[in-house]
Amino acid sequence: MIIVLRPEATEEQVQHLLDKIEEAGLTPHLSRGIERTIIGLIGDERIVRNLPLEAFPGVETVMPILKPYKFASREFKKENTLIKIKDFVIGGNEIIIAAGPCSVEPGDVIFEIAHTLKKMGVKMLRGGAFKPRTSPYDFQGLGEEGLKLLAQASKDTGMAVITEVMDTRQVELVYKYADAFQIGARNVQNFNLLKEVGKTDKPVLLKRGMSTTIKEWLMSAEYIISEGNIKIILCERGIRTFETSTRNTLDITAVPVLKDETHLPVFVDPSHACGIWKYVDPLSKAAIVAGADGLIIEVHPRPESAFSDGAQSLKFSKFEKLMNDLRPIAQAIGRTI
Ligand code: PEP
Ligand code: MN
Repeated sequence: MIIVLRPEATEEQVQHLLDKIEEAGLTPHLSRGIERTIIGLIGDERIVRNLPLEAFPGVETVMPILKPYKFASREFKKENTLIKIKDFVIGGNEIIIAAGPCSVEPGDVIFEIAHTLKKMGVKMLRGGAFKPRTSPYDFQGLGEEGLKLLAQASKDTGMAVITEVMDTRQVELVYKYADAFQIGARNVQNFNLLKEVGKTDKPVLLKRGMSTTIKEWLMSAEYIISEGNIKIILCERGIRTFETSTRNTLDITAVPVLKDETHLPVFVDPSHACGIWKYVDPLSKAAIVAGADGLIIEVHPRPESAFSDGAQSLKFSKFEKLMNDLRPIAQAIGRTI
């Protein structure tokens, strides 16, 4: 149920309603919008029906949420969700770029990358310390050592760090070092992991699975929200289709569809979508025009020696050109980078 409060509802009326809902054994989710305050209510239908919600002072209307992804839906919240990290906001007018290597590597390379990208206007530094590799014999990431390198690069440059968490047992550790969690395509329906990051207060970039429908993906977001964390960024990263020319197929349509279905910000990862560096440029441009709130792009100074995903990583010069090309495109659609 969605309980829409009157614009003039007082704090006392709102609190009284919240108390009564809790007394009935339900958990209210309060959302204060610019125009309206609403309360979302999920729980045993019989209990909900027995509460005379419309009779409470301050209540305007009560209506059911029809979508299965209750709190992730636009029905529940009309305004875009804004996620503040450090000194920038995701989901607003500014398009946020995250970039960095696929894997954090030993040595100084992450610092070389962070300093260079910072100058190019990148707000978030990406890099995996825990890597979900197809083969168990491939490089699995530096683990905590990688997280420490990322945290140091963040301290040196002021950039925010986003890094993948693969397992519930890693959540506490990753929380210590990162500004945002990344949940990878392979874990999109790892419900225990979703619930665990849902208990934290840090943003979660939730990648689409290779065979996940938009509805299933939003249900995964709902798992995170149901634990109390609404700071979710959905990231389209290509899906598996019959096409084999590229690593995956970028479902660009997912961007406007998500914008209709949910208030959560939407990112696109053009690197994993195509797997080939030279297509990253056109796919990035398409994503911005389609309405993406941000991009996450793999960049490496020497892709040929990258520990993973070198084939899809952009060199600095190519990435810089892309950033410069994206600015007027963003401007043309009334946004900034
Ligand atoms: C990554 O970002 O390095 C990654 C492994 O992505 P995905 O989960 O989309 O494959
Ligand atoms: Mn990668």
